[in-house]
Amino acid sequence: MDIGGKRRSDNFEDRGASSGGGGGGGIGIRLLSTVARRFGVKGMLVGGVILGGVYLFAPSSIKQSLLGGSAGTTQTAASVCASSDKNAAACDFSRAVLASTEDTWTQQFSAGNLPDYGKNPGPYKMPTLVVFSGAVTTGGCGGATSDVGPFYCPADNKLYIDPSFYDVLEQRLKAPGDFAQAYVIAHEIGHHVQNMIGSMQLKMPGETKNQVSVRVELQADCLAGVWGHSAREDLSITDEDLSEATQAAHAIGDDALGHTDEAKFSHGSSEQRLRWFKKGFTSGDPRQCDTFAVKNYKNL
Ligand SMILES: [Zn+2]
Repeated sequence: MDIGGKRRSDNFEDRGASSGGGGGGGIGIRLLSTVARRFGVKGMLVGGVILGGVYLFAPSSIKQSLLGGSAGTTQTAASVCASSDKNAAACDFSRAVLASTEDTWTQQFSAGNLPDYGKNPGPYKMPTLVVFSGAVTTGGCGGATSDVGPFYCPADNKLYIDPSFYDVLEQRLKAPGDFAQAYVIAHEIGHHVQNMIGSMQLKMPGETKNQVSVRVELQADCLAGVWGHSAREDLSITDEDLSEATQAAHAIGDDALGHTDEAKFSHGSSEQRLRWFKKGFTSGDPRQCDTFAVKNYKNL
């Protein structure tokens, strides 16, 4: 994969502690929890994490099984991107991938090449990628700490990533490589696409919340694959890159993360995540990503 000479997106926010980001970005966890208690931020409080309707990259069990004690450290750097060479590279890389997803989805939306949920989404609206360190407040989804992993907030159309997640991906999930990192961004962008086309809001009669969540997550994986397909030539994505993404998709299946009870699955099994990602990557067609058209949940 080669991002040299490619466009970098400006729909990007660096939420260092003192940069503020207009909304008190990068504040400490203790402060965040206090704020939540005082002002009654909507959502559930999970070990210092307040979440309201956000869409995660990986099942929430990721934080117990993978992040251990390293999670949730509050950092005070003024700029996340400038705090280390490694972060600078991660920020630059993220902006290049984001720009590539903008090109892909602008084109797919203008061609009307999307699953139909009875809603005309109009032209593609580009979301903002926020990088943060330790903890972050969103515009409508409450606050979160890094231990939930990357996520998308539909209320403010923003994706939130702590670059330290890339280390988790490499070291704890054994899914190294730049294309694995790109897949994380492309998956969260997939949630933004769902927000626009209306699949994120769908309810399936007779299905549990978790079952609908699996449909949403597998569709986001497939849409990430669609991006990979269309960026293949432009970003010189090789077969080796593809195996990085498939390794990542496999590592974040509910079963790979220790869930044995299917009723508790929120993101799908490793096999399902991999299969839907590949479906998007092979076809390059968003309409092939209609997980809601699969009648029986068991056939997903
Ligand atoms: Zn997700």
